[in-house]
This record gives sequence, structure tokens and C-alpha cells, in this order.
Amino acid sequence: MLRALIALIALLLPHGQPRAQPQVHWHNSLSLGRPDAGTLVRGVRFPAQAATFFTWDPILHRSPDRPWRRWGNERLVRIALNVVAGYARAHPDAPRVGIGDFSRRHGGYFGPKHVSHQNGLDVDVYYPRLDRRERPPVRAEQIDRRLAQDLLDRFLAAGAVRIFVGPNTQLTGPARVVRILANHDNHMHVRIADP
Ligand SMILES: [Zn+2]
Repeated sequence: MLRALIALIALLLPHGQPRAQPQVHWHNSLSLGRPDAGTLVRGVRFPAQAATFFTWDPILHRSPDRPWRRWGNERLVRIALNVVAGYARAHPDAPRVGIGDFSRRHGGYFGPKHVSHQNGLDVDVYYPRLDRRERPPVRAEQIDRRLAQDLLDRFLAAGAVRIFVGPNTQLTGPARVVRILANHDNHMHVRIADP
């Protein structure tokens, strides 16, 4: 009965409302070449939003991120969804996680904002803000460092091989994975290994 009621409510929700279970069309993806010179075969599109995350377009400065900017290797999409789900369970009162660009549908050059993001193994993740607003922090002081570090730790545990953080974030991690890079004071860049 309860399940039927929930299903009915889900049906009645207008499009664009956050869904508890985002719909994903899974494929066996292939990441070819390198993150800074590569392509993506049978990528999986990351959902626009859900109860636990929103996506952000860094060019138009609005949510959601445009669909063509949200294609990743299936493994990266799965990791991102799992990390966000675990984070939301651990911090039920935290604001939704902001997820940024993945790759283009078939990979390749992804515009002036990105050197890499070319073969579906990279995703940008915005640091949670102290004021809980669902948009990237403008200054590092706006970052909720406790939540941001936990988010970083979860991507580490999930198998990230490279995480770039900004010089003013004070976020830390093993030097073989976590590196400081300019222009990353509002988001961390997460890269996974080629599956
Ligand atoms: Zn990036």
C-alpha cells in the first residue's frame, strides 16, 4: 500500500522534480586514449539531479548542467552516484552535492574550461558551502571544510587515482592522489583509473 502510494506520488510529480532513484541507461563503456587526449565509447549520461545531488553548468552558471556535458564511463557514473549516496546517508542534514562536468558524449576536446575530461574518467565536484546554497563557492572561506574533506575521502576510498584541490582549500590526502592545482578553489577534480 505504502509502495503504491509512493509510486503514485512519483507519477504525479512534475518533470524536473528531484527523484530518489535517478534513471540511468547503463552501457559497457570504453575510455580510449588519455584524459587529456582521448575519446569515450558508449558513455553513460549522469542524471541532471536527484534527492542527493544537483548538477551545475560552469559556463552558464546554473543548474542543471547541460546534458551534453554529463557523459562518463559507466564506472565513473556508478562511483559518483555511490559516493553521493553514502555521503547523503552519513550527513542527512547536509545540502545536496554539486556535480559538474564529466565529458562530452563521445569524449574529445571539451572546451577552454578543461584540459582533460576527454575520455569519461574525470568529473568535477563542487565543495559544499557553509551557507548551504546549491552553487559553487566563490571564495575558499565559503567551503564547509569538514563536509568537503569527507566528500574527498569518499572519492579516495572509491578508488580515485587523482584528485585536484585548490591551494586555499586546506583539503588533504595522500600525495600520490591528492594534488594542489590553481583554479580548484571552488571544486575538486576527480579522476578514476581506466577500468
Ligand atoms: Zn575538472
